[in-house]
Amino acid sequence: MTTLAFLGLGAMGDPMAAHLARYAAAHGLTALVWNRTDSKAQAHARAHGSRAVTLEEAAGADVIFTCLPTSAEVSEVLTAMEPHLKRGAVWVDCTSGHPQAAPAQRERLTARGVTLLDAPVSGGTAGAQAGTLTVMVGGPAEALEAVRPHLAFAGKVVHVGQSGAGFAVKAVNNALLGVTLWATGEGLAVLARSGVDLGAALDVINASSGRSNASQNLIGQRVLTREFPATFALGLLAKDAGIAADLTGEVRGSAPLLAQTAALLRAAERVVGEDEDHTAALKLIEQMNDVELK
Ligand code: NDP
Repeated sequence: MTTLAFLGLGAMGDPMAAHLARYAAAHGLTALVWNRTDSKAQAHARAHGSRAVTLEEAAGADVIFTCLPTSAEVSEVLTAMEPHLKRGAVWVDCTSGHPQAAPAQRERLTARGVTLLDAPVSGGTAGAQAGTLTVMVGGPAEALEAVRPHLAFAGKVVHVGQSGAGFAVKAVNNALLGVTLWATGEGLAVLARSGVDLGAALDVINASSGRSNASQNLIGQRVLTREFPATFALGLLAKDAGIAADLTGEVRGSAPLLAQTAALLRAAERVVGEDEDHTAALKLIEQMNDVELK
């Protein structure tokens, strides 16, 4: 019988693993969950019929999903699980990881007969709850086809290339989120200092060529309301933009706007706080301009 294990029940992992548990129950499969803070795994088991296990038990699964903050934590759990892995298994890493971490992880897993797919996701916590995430997959196409039916949290799955390509696409996507979020914040700060009503300005921008996901779905709802609900940590967005900047260096590319955005988000993370919602980065722009975006 196929056993599916999900490791990391955070803001994304918890609802993703809930979809996996429902899918497993409907298809007669076993769904295991593990979380560093075990009480969350126990609560998941009670709520969704998954089984909370140790890392050693999770290592025996046929498909292992991870959704941890960075590639560093994935390497940590890999170290603990390495001796217990099952040959023929596939490891689907849904972390927004680092392309430079993929080769070493892949090599360690290959030595155990396990195939690694980097499979970060987009769509936010709302997409995770709805089971409509976009999954960008790097690694062998045959391994993706083998696990595709198990991607119960996905609305769209795209094979973007070889190992590490999924991480690269995710980092660039989120760097673009950072660019539009930051640039729209700057524009609104200028308008606020000019005495323009920001609700009206955003209404116009959202019907005009300056609109973006940040202007349409984030700034009005999270910044102007002053609510800043913490669904995606500022520290994680700064990490993603930093990965895009690292990638630029690795390929000897020229992407100054991405590099500058990574630096600005890092500064915002320091000044505003890594655990704040990513939209709270605009509080640094507020300080720079001595205005409140409301
Ligand atoms: P959270 O901070 O909500 O959850 C992090 C998870 O990782 C928790 O389960 C936490 O366990 C676990 N963890 C942290 N450190 C360790 C460690 N050293 N060893 C083992 N487990 C650890 O993060 P998210 O769910 O928001 O993000 C997870 C990944 O998904 C990140 O790579 C992020 O960039 C990406 N992502 C996030 C999105 C979002 O909207 N939030 C959207 C798309 C991608 P514990 O409960 O014990 O703290």
